[in-house]
Amino acid sequence: MQPKLPICFFDAKTGMLCGNCEARLARGEVTQADVEASRAVAQLSDRVVELQKATLKKASEVNGSYVLEFDRSDMPALRGNPLLVEELENALKGRVWVVGAGGNDRKFLEDVFFPAKVLTVNTVYLPDGEKKTKVIVPARRSERRVGDFDKLRAAVKGARGIDLLMETEREVAASLYS
Ligand SMILES: [Zn+2]
Repeated sequence: MQPKLPICFFDAKTGMLCGNCEARLARGEVTQADVEASRAVAQLSDRVVELQKATLKKASEVNGSYVLEFDRSDMPALRGNPLLVEELENALKGRVWVVGAGGNDRKFLEDVFFPAKVLTVNTVYLPDGEKKTKVIVPARRSERRVGDFDKLRAAVKGARGIDLLMETEREVAASLYS
């Protein structure tokens, strides 16, 4: 078994693009991030069995942080390997978020924040009319470990164009009653 990728598996494995994939890259049908992520997945698939049956739909990259969108049906198996994200991060030399492709913004954000919980996703408009998406996470520290929020926010913006705000439920309560 080998993973399905935005470029040919053979190209990903050898690090060279065939004429067809080269042309698709030039036309913007695949991105440089797709190519980098495909190479990482192809290399790791030698020994990471969960990746052998996976389908990488697309990838995006902002400042060295990646969002990898796999077929949603792959997610249970991918999450079943607790070392997968770390392996991908070592291969890509940056932060990596593994998410299910497609789905609405809430589903996407739940995948990005996983294993932290997302309690609520709201759309908020700032006084200047700018639209933001506010995610409310639990107050308990153990349930909202999201790592470097600045990188997460940039990656989310790059992948889906979502401008993210994050609050804990305690902060929300404080602003309601102050
Ligand atoms: Zn190719």
